Amino acid sequence: MFENKNPTPLSDYGEFKLIEHLTKNFSLTQKTTLKGVGDDGAVLKLDDRLTVLSTDLLIEGIHFDLSYMPLKHLGYKAVVVNLSDIFAMNAIANQITVSIAVSNRFNVDSLEELYSGISLACKNFKVDLIGGDTSSSVQGLTISITALGQVAKEKITYRSGANSNDILMVSGDLGGAYMGLQVLEREKAVFKVNPQSKPDLSKYSYCIERQLKPESRKDIIKILDELNIVPTSMIDISDGLSSEILHLSKSSKLGCLIYEEKIPIDQEVKNTAEEFKFNSTTAALNGGEDYELLFTIKQIDYEKIKNNNLVSVIGYMTDEKLGCFMQNNLNQKIELVAQGWKNF
Ligand code: ADP
Ligand code: MG
Repeated sequence: MFENKNPTPLSDYGEFKLIEHLTKNFSLTQKTTLKGVGDDGAVLKLDDRLTVLSTDLLIEGIHFDLSYMPLKHLGYKAVVVNLSDIFAMNAIANQITVSIAVSNRFNVDSLEELYSGISLACKNFKVDLIGGDTSSSVQGLTISITALGQVAKEKITYRSGANSNDILMVSGDLGGAYMGLQVLEREKAVFKVNPQSKPDLSKYSYCIERQLKPESRKDIIKILDELNIVPTSMIDISDGLSSEILHLSKSSKLGCLIYEEKIPIDQEVKNTAEEFKFNSTTAALNGGEDYELLFTIKQIDYEKIKNNNLVSVIGYMTDEKLGCFMQNNLNQKIELVAQGWKNF
């Protein structure tokens, strides 16, 4: 097995190139499959409405660190990040399955903690836990969640539907989860040296909450519905604004221009970034795990949403040949680049 004399290391491929490479020879053969690989969720036509399905894998040591992530929060976050992909298709989530692999380091009580977080998320977002799978693992904890949702067929929103001159918007604010992670990592390092330390983390409470207890934006899907707006394209922000803008633009075969001054960043996030000698715009562009929604709307829909303070306009879509740029606060145009995927 694997005896190729010149094997290609995984590091030659980013996450997205790898997925593309591995799946390129699969074609869709079932008439119930409307969309396969390549969006936040797959889209199936099983009845009058459309069914959206998304799955995620969380690995201890890669996606979470139990030295500062309480298991209850981990359970909650694992569900929320999955539902985020369903909302990104403009659908409402209804069901999840949860599969876990656990080493003997864990006990029943700790898994009960994990499930109390899963249960809280199910209650808050009104989804049913309908199954899963359980296995032992050699090391650590792995969680895989699959979420199912539904949407009327005229409301399904893909990454690929934006048009030139559409307005680009984001929900909430960005960069908080990344700065929260920096604070937690720093405190972990301090604790290693001095286990007696009792830090006052209250001035970072918003950032830490964004990292440990993220919410996904079902409220935005509801608001868009009430305002009678179907976004022309949408994606959730899991890997940083820059990367997600590039996904939307590439899928829609467009370019875009965003304005640094319009990127919503909370004051606490700015203060924390300053303390860490970090640029808060970089945290928003290249941090991750904010689980906000990035979407485009037609200009004609702008009047309906302009007074809503849960969303902000950050720019607009342009022609593909113009590329994707940010006009910074010094009036310079900077090309948006996706931060490479570091997992390999
Ligand atoms: P997201 O960040 O929204 O969860 P991903 O970047 O994980 O999305 O995935 C992008 C697309 O690639 C999705 O359609 C996903 O289902 C698909 N995908 C990811 N990994 C695999 C895989 N190993 N095999 C087949 N499809 C995959
Ligand atoms: Mg997504």
